[in-house]
Amino acid sequence: MANKIDRSDFFGRTPLIAGNWKMYKTIAEAKEFAKEFKSIYKGDNDVKVAICAPFTQLQALVEEFKGTDIGVGAQNVHFADEGAYTGEISLSMLMEIGVDYIIIGHSERRQYFNETDESINNKLKHIFWDSEIVPILCVGENLEEREAGKASEIVKFQLEKDLQDLTAEKVATMVIAYEPIWAIGTGKTATPEQAGEMCTLIRNTVAEIYDSETASRITIQYGGSVKPENASEIMNMTDVDGALVGGASLAPKTFLQIVEF
Ligand code: PGA
Repeated sequence: MANKIDRSDFFGRTPLIAGNWKMYKTIAEAKEFAKEFKSIYKGDNDVKVAICAPFTQLQALVEEFKGTDIGVGAQNVHFADEGAYTGEISLSMLMEIGVDYIIIGHSERRQYFNETDESINNKLKHIFWDSEIVPILCVGENLEEREAGKASEIVKFQLEKDLQDLTAEKVATMVIAYEPIWAIGTGKTATPEQAGEMCTLIRNTVAEIYDSETASRITIQYGGSVKPENASEIMNMTDVDGALVGGASLAPKTFLQIVEF
């Protein structure tokens, strides 16, 4: 497997800036992005970079980014090894391609595709027990929950369910993205303070579920309308170790400005 991620690499909490392309781009467009991004990305700042793309583009991106330190991620995986699950993709299929990351539990999957905390937990177990791929687990509250003052409660609840029965050792090397649903694709960004506060809450919750050493090692990203204009302010918050970037990751130059925050 062409996996470029050394899990020990995560212990230092080097910021991870990951693009989430959602359901955008054809293979040809993905290759075009990769060629342009490779030509402008110097890779001399202390961040890890990845693109999480639709399944059809993964192989082309792994090939394009071979020999660089740009990682490639999928946006979902099934929790079974294989089986009669029409339309699904298995972990071994992704391992064969050589992806480095898999986004799990994105709010769009929770909202539109019945992704539950139970299936998320099963997916995390499968990834951890059967591969070295780094999961990026997304959690976050919706607007109604935030306005009702329930943001912390909701995120804690999600984490308790999603991280159930994993091992501290594995959890320490995963990524959690705090993605408030009200800030995704809306142009509304959480303030740096809100992002920082929730990432701290996530770290403290990991300490409660596992232990403080695990919590101090885990990588926690913020996601939701991250743009070149707000990236550095958000990334400067103590417990924010990077960003999951949707819309602003689709154009190489814009994404580069975030990577070089
Ligand atoms: P956005 O998406 O940056 O377009 O708000 C973020 C995400 O959904 O990961």
